Amino acid sequence: MNEKDAQRFWAKVDKSGDCWEWTASRRNGYGQMGLDGRVEYAHRISYQMVNGAIPPGLVVRHSCDNRGCVNPAHLEIGTLEENNQDAIDRNRHAPASKTAHYGSDNGRAKLTDSQVAEIRSLYIKGQRGYGSKVLAEKFGVGSAHILRIVRGQNRVQS
Ligand SMILES: [Zn+2]
Repeated sequence: MNEKDAQRFWAKVDKSGDCWEWTASRRNGYGQMGLDGRVEYAHRISYQMVNGAIPPGLVVRHSCDNRGCVNPAHLEIGTLEENNQDAIDRNRHAPASKTAHYGSDNGRAKLTDSQVAEIRSLYIKGQRGYGSKVLAEKFGVGSAHILRIVRGQNRVQS
């Protein structure tokens, strides 16, 4: 990576906090930047500037669990399996407030208005694969709940 690209890279980074936040475009929460005609993940670029090339088959992981962070001190190399296991562990131990809307502990899982709108639009358009069961899994509610949402919309339309 040349000096000019490096300057371009660090100009997009907010180093004011412990995590160095990527301020330009993102994909799935990860920062990204065009480099040598390709789009590269920002945290991978950052890692490689400090540590050199990433060995084949390995991934750069965030020890801080902040996808938008490009602080080399928060980046480490690992396998994809380790990365996936991290995600599973974090999900399992996540505080209740974060997971509440996925569960149906109280029998009436809550969905936001925009989620309801998305469910209706996916179901009504008859998009491939979006039956009530798939939608129920996608949004973490019971399929009966999905059907109630969808039927409500049908009544309004007819
Ligand atoms: Zn960080």
